[in-house]
Amino acid sequence: MARHDLYKALCDIVGPSYVADSDFAVWAYARDASAYPARPPGIVVRPDSSEEISEIVKLANLHRIPIIPRGGGTQYGGWPPGDPGRSICVDMTRMRRLLDVNELNSTVTVEAGITGAELEERLLRRGLYAHTTFSPPDSVTVGGAVCGVFGGGGAKFATLAANWPTIVGVKAVLPNGDIVETGTRSNQHSKMFFRAAIGPDLTGLFIGSYGIFGIVTEVTQELFRHQPYKREGAVVYDSERLDDANRAMIEVGLHEPKLCSLGGIFGMGPSVKGKKDWQLIYQVTAHTQEEMDAKADCVERIIREAAPPDAWHPEAATGFAQRLLHFGHDSSSGAKVLGMPTFIEFLAPRDSGLSLFRGVLELIGKEIEGWEGRVSCWGCAMWLCGDQHYLSFFLNHKETDPEARERALAVARKVNRFGLERGGFKLVLNKDVGDIAAEMIPEPYAKLLRTLKEVLDPNNIMNPHMLSLP
Ligand SMILES: Cc1cc2nc3c(=O)[nH]c(=O)nc-3n(C[C@H](O)[C@H](O)[C@H](O)COP(=O)(O)OP(=O)(O)OC[C@H]3O[C@@H](n4cnc5c(N)ncnc54)[C@H](O)[C@@H]3O)c2cc1C
Repeated sequence: MARHDLYKALCDIVGPSYVADSDFAVWAYARDASAYPARPPGIVVRPDSSEEISEIVKLANLHRIPIIPRGGGTQYGGWPPGDPGRSICVDMTRMRRLLDVNELNSTVTVEAGITGAELEERLLRRGLYAHTTFSPPDSVTVGGAVCGVFGGGGAKFATLAANWPTIVGVKAVLPNGDIVETGTRSNQHSKMFFRAAIGPDLTGLFIGSYGIFGIVTEVTQELFRHQPYKREGAVVYDSERLDDANRAMIEVGLHEPKLCSLGGIFGMGPSVKGKKDWQLIYQVTAHTQEEMDAKADCVERIIREAAPPDAWHPEAATGFAQRLLHFGHDSSSGAKVLGMPTFIEFLAPRDSGLSLFRGVLELIGKEIEGWEGRVSCWGCAMWLCGDQHYLSFFLNHKETDPEARERALAVARKVNRFGLERGGFKLVLNKDVGDIAAEMIPEPYAKLLRTLKEVLDPNNIMNPHMLSLP
């Protein structure tokens, strides 16, 4: 079998047990969690330290071979192409150490390849908590979340990207192989204890970067006390009362201090015929029973005053809220029944979330007409997301139906463009979705992005072709 050009050199860096270039290995790294096309790398390497990654990056520069960092591979915007069949995929999952827990400074430092589930589990043993992504934490890595969307859900209010402020700093390998630390580590004598730096906030350069400015190898996040008390609630509004449900959710979201760690309005999509109620579901978390009761009472009072629902805590809706929010972390179980999922999501300002939600639902309804049983949209949701709304729509198709897949992706592209043009904001970008979003970037901003990329990565080896960059 013909080996990848760098097989031997990479084995010298990380050891032969951690390099693979067989067809089986590279195809296993070819896709994300979406229906967008597979893009196999040429070789996969699993480093164990920032220093090894630095060596790999220097080698890649020498040979002008693109690098694609990979966490859990759960992105759903289309896997980065790199140079298909030739790129080096750097799998971060060996780097999963919990490096430091500093309760007094409220920081936790981990290697970027640790999954959210492992981090949460290990902190829980000490009565502590750090934000990870709400879903699916068993595979999403901390580094992947930082470089993709850093979401959350749990002890504090948050879902997608609402957790960016809780990132204190990162260690990263730059495209030239240099290893840098951001935040207070910009003073070589300081610990990583705060996001402030000598000069501008360069932690932000890596957050949401999709790996185009380097590989994040360590992350320091804010640490919280675990809140052991959780309660879910659900109220139901008739199908015509989405405005009311939205008003109630807005009032709950506006309350200071924040009451809900998670919450949202869930409804049936255009594929469901007949009456479609809206369920407003939420979760309160607390340190004590009294605190939880008080928070739950407060949420109920706000809902009652804003827009009394048609039903309070019906069994089915409450059960749904518990499954989704309490045990959480698994929003994908329907996919086995419904086929391959295509997520469409937008972050929207509170004042226009509802009109965007309605517009997108209507468009999806039109676009899937005539595709009954092949491309479906069974559900939609509008989440409380800090001080924003996070809108999500779920399309499904069977992987064995290539026409349906193309249709689902065409619908997603159209809807993504529609939402962006109406002020929605995309967080989950990666390749295919990112290219659509990049069309909306004003030229001076695009120029800034291009300039940064050219300066930091003159050989264009770090995740090339993302965000419509060369
Ligand atoms: C069913 C489902 C539900 C989801 N729900 C949520 C949610 O509730 N909240 C939320 O925030 N997100 C959610 N996500 C999205 C998920 O959290 C993000 O896609 C996250 O970025 C994926 O992390 P990962 O480790 O799988 O990264 P990957 O998918 O492997 O990589 C993501 C991107 O980051 C780059 N990258 C990965 N690791 C590094 C690194 N160490 N350094 C530099 N670049 C890197 C990759 O090249 C790629 O471009 C959901 C995803 C799925 C499939």
